Amino acid sequence: MNCDDINNAIYVYLDGELAAPEEGDFEGHVSACRRCSRLLAQESGMLTAVRANAPQPKAPESLRLRVLAALDEAPAPLPAEARAQAPRTSAWLVGAGWIGAIAAVVIAMVLAFGKPAGGETDERRVLVESVAAHRENLPMEVRGSEQQVRQYLQENVPFPVEIPFDDSQAIRLTGARLTRVGGREAVLFNYDVQGERMTVVQVATPPEAEAADAETEPSFSNHQGFEVVTFRKRGIINSVVGQGQSPGKIVRASYAQ
Ligand SMILES: [Zn+2]
Repeated sequence: MNCDDINNAIYVYLDGELAAPEEGDFEGHVSACRRCSRLLAQESGMLTAVRANAPQPKAPESLRLRVLAALDEAPAPLPAEARAQAPRTSAWLVGAGWIGAIAAVVIAMVLAFGKPAGGETDERRVLVESVAAHRENLPMEVRGSEQQVRQYLQENVPFPVEIPFDDSQAIRLTGARLTRVGGREAVLFNYDVQGERMTVVQVATPPEAEAADAETEPSFSNHQGFEVVTFRKRGIINSVVGQGQSPGKIVRASYAQ
């Protein structure tokens, strides 16, 4: 396995779903690679925080039945004998039969929820992870002026980053760091809003997503006692988290300009 394979398989691994030989390869690479071991520590910490904090939505019974029916109809992935020896099938190196089964499950989910994966669910994921990141208060990788932050990000982030808000009397950029949301590279900005910390997480929409360049109006919500504002600008999802009403005020002010 190389670093890309680790990146692709990390959630499957964290869910304990990798088959034994791949699990061994995965752990072998991670123990030898500093970058991947850092990534694994970060992702597992984030996942733990998100799982501890997020309410688990329950799928409706009708969806469960449709998924089971879809799996019944899918061809068996392996001969019966091999399957008995390998009960945990790798979910990331799947045969054509399983791709059919997974496609059927995705179709069932789209039918059940009426929206494709990668649409509004992306915003929700960024929202939940931005609140977890705000609570964790991770150290910044770059501190200093807006220009220093911008330069650091230009050198280190693979998508066009926009500093979310200009400095003013009310708000000052204090630093930034790279992070990941759902396996994708993301940037976390810290602002000082009259003595209080405010977090902005930015994630690029995957280019294959239907709404990659879409702009969305700010959506205001409350999650675990924090006000959160999410919006999409030039294909970048922004999630703003802070105390009191400051995220809403700041986003409204920036849209009013
Ligand atoms: Zn690696």
